[in-house]
Formats: sequence, structure tokens, C-alpha cells
Amino acid sequence: MIPVSDVQVAAGAGDRWRTNATLFERAQRVMPGGVSSPVRAFSSVGGTPYFVESAKGSRIRDVEGNEYIDYVQSYGALVLGHAHPAVVEAVASAAAAGTTYGAPTEREVLLAEAICDRVPGCEQVRLTSSGTEAAMSAIRLARASTGRSRLVKFAGCYHGHSDALLAASGSGAATLGLPGSMGVTEGAVGDTLVVAYNRVPNLTEEVACVIVEPVAANMGLVSPEPGFLAGLRAACDEVGALLVFDEVITGFRLGQGSCASLIGTQPDLWCFGKVIGGGLPIGAFGGPREIMRMIAPTGGVYQAGTLSGNPVATAAGLTVLSTLDETSYAQLSQTAALLARGILDVAQAAGVKVQVPVFGSLLGIAFTDRPVRDFEGARRAAEGSAYTRFFHAMLRRGVALAPSPFEVLFPSLAHGAEDIGRTIDAAREAFAEVREGVS
Ligand SMILES: *Cc1c(COP(=O)(O)O)cnc(C)c1O
Repeated sequence: MIPVSDVQVAAGAGDRWRTNATLFERAQRVMPGGVSSPVRAFSSVGGTPYFVESAKGSRIRDVEGNEYIDYVQSYGALVLGHAHPAVVEAVASAAAAGTTYGAPTEREVLLAEAICDRVPGCEQVRLTSSGTEAAMSAIRLARASTGRSRLVKFAGCYHGHSDALLAASGSGAATLGLPGSMGVTEGAVGDTLVVAYNRVPNLTEEVACVIVEPVAANMGLVSPEPGFLAGLRAACDEVGALLVFDEVITGFRLGQGSCASLIGTQPDLWCFGKVIGGGLPIGAFGGPREIMRMIAPTGGVYQAGTLSGNPVATAAGLTVLSTLDETSYAQLSQTAALLARGILDVAQAAGVKVQVPVFGSLLGIAFTDRPVRDFEGARRAAEGSAYTRFFHAMLRRGVALAPSPFEVLFPSLAHGAEDIGRTIDAAREAFAEVREGVS
């Protein structure tokens, strides 16, 4: 161990002490697991996380000067790639005018308008600072609006880390093999029913809402099967429950607005986040005016935030939304399709059984010979060491995937033909390592 004082002295750029390993060691002394969010610690794939120095477009660079083609893209918060000049400019000029006021701003109005204009049926939104808050508050609103307490969620769907929603969520909790979380009381999850994705559950009149990722992207990528979302809509209508689409990943990533229009099923409430903040902390939930007016101050559902609707985050988000058009989404889908095709081809050539599901700009990699349709399938595909080996083999070749088999790949508009080619070349060699069991 290096004494903290020495490390601080040695922390200048280019210093030989300033490595991923030394930073991780220092981080672990002062932060649980050395990270601010669990998946980043590489617990499920092992090894030392790379500490980022900077990033630009599709590329990310660590403190040791290694460069990677980045498919994490802040778990989907970025869609234009890192440090897009227009976003950097918007953030800089917003910050120069003050970073937070605790009073309303024009940009909140513009962002709310941008969301409502692009999401038919979503007439009002409340901005938050994270997707977690958006989902938590949407549930509170659904309960208030129906006067009921039960909520139904699907195993493997992640809706942030609020107590009631942490039961059998995918993503980080799945990575760590935790069923939910310690510290969450039975009371907090007593009204949460967890059911299997892609099967329409029987609902009772105690159910306030059903919350779902319309395209599940926190247990790898699991698309809704035909009839699933329409079936949920009908089941909710039958008992008077609200349908909540958690579109923190899918919103503004699969098309301009909600994926409801792509899928043909309309929810009652939406949750957004990630893309709409352009890489800064944000979330939003929205729905029809008659439900949304129950939120304080017009109604009795309390919901608030010191930094909600933050002027810098709204500037970044507005810039991203105004940059995206139909051509952008066509390009994103094309990139994902080319990657999926290429990855599948080289896997098959290597004799490795893999599924590479795609939905618009999202793609997943699951080491199984069967399509994954629910969390059980996702768990089975994540057993064994194939993903771990693939992950490290790719990283050694300069391609950064998420350090967990339960995450998806997020190609951005900055990922070009060269990135795709290099990724597929790396995958060809990585699958050979997976097949040979070389770690
Ligand atoms: C990321 C995510 C959240 C939580 O958003 P945070 O900003 O991390 O709190 C909620 N729902 C889904 C579907 C997500 O992917």
C-alpha cells in the first residue's frame, strides 16, 4: 500500500504512480468498493476498473493512456457520443450564467415542451435529478391517483434504487447476485409483486400500477414479444390500474420520444432520464394533465428537488434533443444492426453459441443457444465465465463493454465504420479465446 500523502503528491498527470491500480486502491479506502455505483467496480468480471481521464466521441481514455471504443456511454445517458461540441458549448454557456438557482427557468419550459411535443399523450412532466426519482415518484402518483397500494413489476426490469422497486431488479443488483437489497424492509416491498417478463399477469383491483421497461435493457436486451404490452394495457384497463412505461433507457433513444408509438401500446405514465439530460443528471415523469395535476403544488402528491430541472442539465438535454432527427435514429439503428450482424457472424465462425438481440439502437450479447425472453433466461445465459472472458478479451483489444452480462451495448452517433470494423475484428479474436477457455 502506498501512503495516502505520497499518492496525493504523486497524483500529477503522467506520473507512474497514477495508474488504474493505485487509484482503485485509494478509492477503496475512502469509497465502498472504490466506486460511486456498484457495477463500475468490475465485481462480476474481476480485475481492476479503468479510471477515465477523458473521452471524445466513441472513444474513452484511461489515466494510463489506454484508449477504448466505448459501448458503455454512461449506460445510455449519451447518444451523441462523449463531449459532443454542441453539448460542451451549451453546458459551458449555461454554467457561466449560474449552475442552479432554486427558481424556475425558461429552459425547463423548453425541455418540458420538447418532451410533451414528442410524446403524444404526455401533457405534463415533472423534472427530477435522476431516473430513480422519476420512477419512484411515478409510483407515488399512480398510488395516489388510484387510491390503491399494490404495484406490479417484472423480474429483471430495473427502475432505479428506491425501496419499493428494488425487488428482483436486473442490472447492478443482478450483477451482484442480490435478490433485492439488504436494508429494504418487508413493509417497503410488501405491496410489490414481481412477475415474469413477457407474460401478462392476472391483476386484481388492488393494483395501482404495472411498471415495465417496454423494451427491457437491464437484463441484457429482452424485447417484448408480440401481444405482451398490448396484453398489459388490456389487463390494466380491466381492473382500473395504470400502466407505467419506464423509458429511462428507451425514451428518445429508439426514436423521437416514447417507444409507445413504435410499439403501438400507450401507457398512462412515462419515466424518462438518461438521453434527455445529455450526460448530466436528470429524470422526468409525465402523463395526462388530469393525473399530473395531483403533483404538488397543484395537488397533494409531494415531490421536490433542490437541483430538479437544473439549468446546466436542461441545456445539455435540449441540445441533444434538438440535434436528433429521423436520420439520427436511422443511423443509430444501422450501426446496431451492423454490429449485431458482424458479432454474430464471427461468433458462429468461432463455434460459440451466442444471441445478439437488437432493438433499434440497442443490442445485447448473451452466451446461450436460446433467445432470452425473461430474467430466468438472462440468468442462465449469465452463468459460467463466457461473458467474463469475452469482456476481458475485448478490453485487451481496446473495446470497452459494460462489466456485467446484464447490461446492453449503447452504440452512439459517434460510432463510425472504423469503430464497427475494429469491434468486429476484436470480437473475432475474443470469441476464439472464449471457445478455448483462455482467460
Ligand atoms: C438507469 C435506469 C433507471 C435509473 O436512473 P438513474 O438516473 O440511474 O437513477 C431507471 N430505469 C431504467 C429503465 C434505467 O435504465
